[in-house]
Amino acid sequence: MTDHLVSVEEHRERILSSVHPLPAFDQPLMEAFGLSAAEDVHASVALPGFDNSAMDGYAVAQADVATAREDSPVHLPVVGEIGAGQASLLAMSPGTAVKIMTGAPVPAGADSVVPYEWTDRGVANVVISKSPELGQHIRPKGQDVAEGDLLVQSGTVLGARQIGLLAAVGRSSVRSRPRPRVVVLSTGSELREPGTALGRDSIYDGNSFLLAAAARQAGAIAYRVGIVPDQPRAFLSALNDQLVRADLVITSGGVSMGDYDVVKEALAPLGTVWFGGVAMQPGKPQGFGTVGEDAVPIVTLPGNPVSSYISFEQFVLPAIRRMMGRTPYTRPEADAMLTHGLRSPDGRRMFARGTLSIVDGRLAVTPVGSQGSHMIGDLAESNALIVVPESVTWVEAGETVTVLPLDEEF
Ligand code: AMP
Ligand code: MG
Repeated sequence: MTDHLVSVEEHRERILSSVHPLPAFDQPLMEAFGLSAAEDVHASVALPGFDNSAMDGYAVAQADVATAREDSPVHLPVVGEIGAGQASLLAMSPGTAVKIMTGAPVPAGADSVVPYEWTDRGVANVVISKSPELGQHIRPKGQDVAEGDLLVQSGTVLGARQIGLLAAVGRSSVRSRPRPRVVVLSTGSELREPGTALGRDSIYDGNSFLLAAAARQAGAIAYRVGIVPDQPRAFLSALNDQLVRADLVITSGGVSMGDYDVVKEALAPLGTVWFGGVAMQPGKPQGFGTVGEDAVPIVTLPGNPVSSYISFEQFVLPAIRRMMGRTPYTRPEADAMLTHGLRSPDGRRMFARGTLSIVDGRLAVTPVGSQGSHMIGDLAESNALIVVPESVTWVEAGETVTVLPLDEEF
């Protein structure tokens, strides 16, 4: 029996076309950190908001001190003092000086600031031994941001600098797309919770942790439900319980050709979930559809840990990014020199695990020891996927391959 395999792109497109950016709403600034803005934000105030001093010193009219030299200083009476946050003194007369601190508003009548360093720091009178240029040490209103300037464009991911800028112009909230809530269910009667005892026939449930951590890394809120036994009724009941809090469900295991493939057995009869093969290795058995009254999208990943992780990278990560309003959906690719020959199956795109390094100033990638889909030790050691096209069965050491660096922010 030759089964028809769909391409990686076809499956990804199937998923991307049925998940949508989540509705945006106004969120407090710190909640919006890391989210995609869903409005163009314009400055409602100028920055600086008023002419203010860039130094601790004396506000003066430059004409009064223009001749000041070390050997012929200018003497001025000090008629007041203004600290940051104090607009106590609004104007001053020619022939006087006002003590002024960094950030304090410059009074009318002053056009320059003489820093302390050029004076005797006098209290009632000040001796000035060097003149500022006209306007020197004053940060003029609107120098940085003018009222009405576009500060953040819709679609921008709000990092620390953007959040800081929004606060600086007085915004306390910003319309942004929320983090999707991703429920992670792992299936398998052989699975046990880490920290509990293991029988001879059981294994720890690594996948729900792997997938929940990957979902969180991608920006989602991950709910790790954990282990569901290979019983369709138990699976459906666990799934039903979770739907209220899910924007997306991901499952691990139970989608291949075995006798106890619970996810397939439970969901196939609904008719809303497609199951089939994708032309990739690892990760051939896949499924995607919707479940429940609200048609919550569900991505069913294979159980082998490496398969489930790579499938997450290829199909779930793009879905999460689309829901968050982030682009691009897939990781940026790079070219690297392959350090060791690599065999690849005919007709399937291989995502081999590798480690990146720099050799002779060029990016190089070394495949990890064995490429078995159960090799989670090797997976953890790797930091890139090596992509070998469907039609290629052997790549020679020294050839250039496409890699997907896994740890980069994008
Ligand atoms: P399945 O897709 O359910 O047939 O699982 C394929 C292989 O992956 C089997 O060897 C399972 O024991 C293993 N496996 C399934 N789920 C997990 C999991 N959550 N953690 C670790 N290994 C798993
Ligand atoms: Mg299983």
